[in-house]
Amino acid sequence: MTAQAAENIVASTWSGPLESPPQVPATADVVVIGGGIVGVSTAWFLAKQGVSVALCEKGYIAGEQSGRNWGWVRVQGRDTREIPMMQESLRIWAGLKDEIGEDVGFTRGGCFFSANSEKQLEALGAWVKTAQQFGIGTRLLSAAELRRHVKGAAVDWKGALYTESDGRAEPHKATPAIARAAERSGATILTSCAVRGIETSAGRVSAVITEHGTIKTATVLCAAGAWTSLFCGSLGINVPQLKVRGTVARTAPAEKMLNGNVFDDRLGIRRREDGGYSIAHGSVLEHPVTPSSFRYFVKFVPALMQEFRIVRLSFGREFFDEWQTPRTWSLDKPSPFEATRVLNPAPNKRVLAGIRRNLDTIFPQLASTPIVESWAGMIESSPDVVPIIDSVGSVPGFHIATGFSGHGFGIGPGAGKAIAGMIAGKDSGIDISDLRLTRFFDGSPIRPQSSI
Ligand SMILES: Cc1cc2nc3c(=O)[nH]c(=O)nc-3n(C[C@H](O)[C@H](O)[C@H](O)COP(=O)(O)OP(=O)(O)OC[C@H]3O[C@@H](n4cnc5c(N)ncnc54)[C@H](O)[C@@H]3O)c2cc1C
Repeated sequence: MTAQAAENIVASTWSGPLESPPQVPATADVVVIGGGIVGVSTAWFLAKQGVSVALCEKGYIAGEQSGRNWGWVRVQGRDTREIPMMQESLRIWAGLKDEIGEDVGFTRGGCFFSANSEKQLEALGAWVKTAQQFGIGTRLLSAAELRRHVKGAAVDWKGALYTESDGRAEPHKATPAIARAAERSGATILTSCAVRGIETSAGRVSAVITEHGTIKTATVLCAAGAWTSLFCGSLGINVPQLKVRGTVARTAPAEKMLNGNVFDDRLGIRRREDGGYSIAHGSVLEHPVTPSSFRYFVKFVPALMQEFRIVRLSFGREFFDEWQTPRTWSLDKPSPFEATRVLNPAPNKRVLAGIRRNLDTIFPQLASTPIVESWAGMIESSPDVVPIIDSVGSVPGFHIATGFSGHGFGIGPGAGKAIAGMIAGKDSGIDISDLRLTRFFDGSPIRPQSSI
């Protein structure tokens, strides 16, 4: 492997030539908008049921959040509304390699939320009760037990919340592999293929207009990640959504001190398949202020109050980029989705410096291990930090799956199964009734249980 290639293991997901698809199909039973883990998993589950699916991705498969995340596959600490879907997701991850015949780097190394004080340990321990309700074997580890799992940490951790059955996977591998599995099951996967909008006939979906032509269909899933609010807004559907920039880095291969995902206020770290570590700051949520920040402010107040200690507001070009982006457009001309093929924010240098500092403080044995790659991703969040999965009543045939709020990678395969069930009108066995879009407009209290 050349030095250049070694530096771009993660970024290889969203670089390289963008080739236009040969031809879009004239018709499909279902058109999926978005080639992230949610879109491709749904396409895979639908295709396995014999449904004809065309998936349109404006850039690369996993080019945005799904290829840029930490790779944690965890049920630990989740909102109760997500837990059944996440439990199913873990079952799917465990069998994925055998089912699709490709390695996605999934392994169960456990998840550790470490506590720096007795008070913090007690607060973390509250989730053990939640876990018990769902039959999850989460428990509190003592400081000595934690030291046996995580070696050589130079901090005085008091213990940790621990779920042995949680795991991790490699984001640059997983979503492309599931997309290939969907293709083998009969789905058509189109990259460099932005969807500009939809057509309706007699009030319901009748076609999808892409930059490369029209696909006649009665059913559309919008799984457009950070673009969902803009896309849906152009159809008159209000989807409250804000973005948070996450900066991540990867070290060179190094000594194995842990085999799981470890979170501390200062650091999120997990072992990688290549022998290095994916690392990020434990307590920085950087929100670039945009016109949407003002539009949705009231709905996000509860989440902001919960996270106020760690939210950093930044004022920069994102405000003007969104300001200048049209909110409606003509479907026979290039749309905002063609203007930004890949949402590729720059990693924040100050956050990177903090990650390096915190890594060296907590794990001094890694102080001479170089960081070989860094990147950032725009996390999209819903007001209560859990996904929105719903069929839109005002536009029959139009469905939404978005708002995975910084933890959609792990739950992606389970979400795909649940969404495919919703679309096909079949019981997937996963209850998604609490994830409807209307919860933000019908006076229901907006109560985040977990954090981004
Ligand atoms: C830094 C970071 C760390 C994270 N860490 C974790 C973690 O450890 N564990 C975890 O579970 N989750 C994590 N997440 C969250 C997780 O990555 C996301 O929740 C998940 O990937 C969302 O998947 P998605 O398919 O909904 O969206 P995305 O992966 O963003 O995919 C949406 C796709 O839609 C495409 N698109 C948009 N509009 C159009 C259009 N009009 N036409 C065609 N295509 C379109 C986009 O190009 C994009 O590729 C993290 C996210 C980030 C950014």
